[in-house]
Amino acid sequence: MLRLSFALFLGLAVSCAHARDYRYSDAHLHYVDFFQESEGIDKLLEAMAANRIEHVMFSGIPVAKKWHEDEPKRPRYYAGDDAGVYWYSATDTLVAHAYKKLPAEQRRRFHPFLSGFNPNDKNADAHIRRMLELDPGLWQGIGEIFTRHDDLTALIPGDAPRANNEALTRVYHLAAEYDLPVMLHANITSKRERNPLYLQEIEQPLRNHPHVRFIWAHAGTSMEIHRHQEKLDFILPTLERLLADYPNLYIDLSWSVLRPYLLDEQGKPDPQWLQLVSSYPARFMLGSDVVGRFDSLGEYMRGFEPFLDALPEAVARQVARDNFLAVLPRKVQAELAD
Ligand SMILES: [Zn+2]
Repeated sequence: MLRLSFALFLGLAVSCAHARDYRYSDAHLHYVDFFQESEGIDKLLEAMAANRIEHVMFSGIPVAKKWHEDEPKRPRYYAGDDAGVYWYSATDTLVAHAYKKLPAEQRRRFHPFLSGFNPNDKNADAHIRRMLELDPGLWQGIGEIFTRHDDLTALIPGDAPRANNEALTRVYHLAAEYDLPVMLHANITSKRERNPLYLQEIEQPLRNHPHVRFIWAHAGTSMEIHRHQEKLDFILPTLERLLADYPNLYIDLSWSVLRPYLLDEQGKPDPQWLQLVSSYPARFMLGSDVVGRFDSLGEYMRGFEPFLDALPEAVARQVARDNFLAVLPRKVQAELAD
């Protein structure tokens, strides 16, 4: 009997040690999809409650996919057919509207990011300034800004934006002025090149705007790159160097980083990535990158658990929840601390 209860006690102790019950911030969430449609805020609140997701980055999608006159069937995704996508500012109206309808106690868990502008237009900063002044204090960040994004930016009429172009340089100055973090989607390479072809496009703003906190979406990777090339062997050493050189760089680990980088094919955490994240415990954050539908939100966030469990517990909790909150405007952080 004694032995049995001792065994039970041991079993309990072991299971407690492993059940860390993370609380999450989703640092990369799109309230709408590429047609600017959403399941709605109630579904999102349900998914957050069911999965201990305490905070979310709350953004639209800066482009809308066209249902082209010549297409008999309405596409279901931006890649559904060859019709173009176009810059769509009303996405921010949809985000602001949903945010304002939230009860005050829920509103503090939502962190609206403004994204609906053309990053190739040197008037973009003037547009963003108007939006910030229209709803003072509402916007807590800028992005996700789509710069090089393989097939997606190829569908936009005109050139693919560079993260280091003049229009965005003006936007970064504005971000510094308003103390707003910036989330950038900037692919580190093309679908075919096995080298960091576009690295300087992200590195230049990091160097030139030390007062802007940049969140690099998916660490410069994308699903489309992975379809053409497997693991990019230069990602890890590149991040090691950039994190050491630029204290204003933060890394979003969402989906195309989770696999194949954080976890291998068997789902085992990669020791080199564990080492990297442990060396920079304040610089990594998790995201679902869901677009307009929230039924798989919990699954995406819990997908990081094998990796988090292999980190020191304090680091895992920072990555799971705290690091995203720490890049928000200082004013917002002070309100959250109340
Ligand atoms: Zn995204």
